[in-house]
Amino acid sequence: MAFGDFHRGRRLRRTAFLRDMVRETELRPDDLIQGYFVVDTPDADFEKPLGSMPGQSQLSVEKLVARAGAAMDMGLRSVIVFGLPEKKDPAGSGAYADDGIVQRAVMRLKETYPQLAVVTDVCLCEYTSHGHCGLLDGHGEVNNDATLELLAKTAVSHARAGADIIAPSDMMDGRVAAIRAALDDAGFSHIPIMSYAVKYASAFYGPFREAAESAPAFGDRRGYQMDPANVREGLREAAADLEEGADILMVKPAMPYLDVVRLLRDSFDTPIAAYQVSGEYAMLQAAIANGWLDEKRAILESLTGIKRAGADMIITYFAEKVLPWL
Ligand SMILES: [Zn+2]
Repeated sequence: MAFGDFHRGRRLRRTAFLRDMVRETELRPDDLIQGYFVVDTPDADFEKPLGSMPGQSQLSVEKLVARAGAAMDMGLRSVIVFGLPEKKDPAGSGAYADDGIVQRAVMRLKETYPQLAVVTDVCLCEYTSHGHCGLLDGHGEVNNDATLELLAKTAVSHARAGADIIAPSDMMDGRVAAIRAALDDAGFSHIPIMSYAVKYASAFYGPFREAAESAPAFGDRRGYQMDPANVREGLREAAADLEEGADILMVKPAMPYLDVVRLLRDSFDTPIAAYQVSGEYAMLQAAIANGWLDEKRAILESLTGIKRAGADMIITYFAEKVLPWL
């Protein structure tokens, strides 16, 4: 090979036009789902900024409606709503109350913006006094099968309120089948399930627990969420959820688990979602606030990486911020 007779990859990187022409991955507004925290409060003006998630707040229903509307003006198409009830109890009854906080927030969002796609998170941990994702069995463990009925009730109440997609995040075995059956029975066979199929017991959920006030009162969630060291197990979880009727499979968190996103993308034909969680958001925001990372480039690169790994949709707290950049 004569000198100079080698692959010249730089030819296609030389100008912005050439780079635009050969770009393989493009973020679109439709890819992004903005996460919001809504609080059950009589104060319609309630808005409490979250210290560990700069830029995000706990919002009253009316504040949520206003904020989502402003984001929709920028091109936002979809939101996922997490609720903070006024009261918690051992059975997490606020999760499946017809007038629960998420149910009321979804009703208001859908009556104000029928075209907005509203995803609801189905779990009990924001509503239980002990902060675990299901009913306790009296020995400090979560009773899987007894929890399924409550998750199914929660899903149906969300669908009744107008939710477009139901997203169970509890990691109980058999929950997708239980939720699918309950939705079908209640006349919601048209409502898809986005399953948190591969959800790891992650340190990156820390800021969310402040935001949603849902830290477990004792122990942790390693008895039901996945070990960060495992990937084959994730494939098994995803296959089980598909068999049970999941329409979309999710990996959570996103950035530390891009190999899992890619594996699911290559293993299944179903749409894949990834959740860029509170800790990923906090990490980026902290470095940006210190001037250690360039805001726009770092955030866009993080989301592009998740999409490149194979995610069709990304739940992120950055959606509002990046929409004007796309
Ligand atoms: Zn939970």
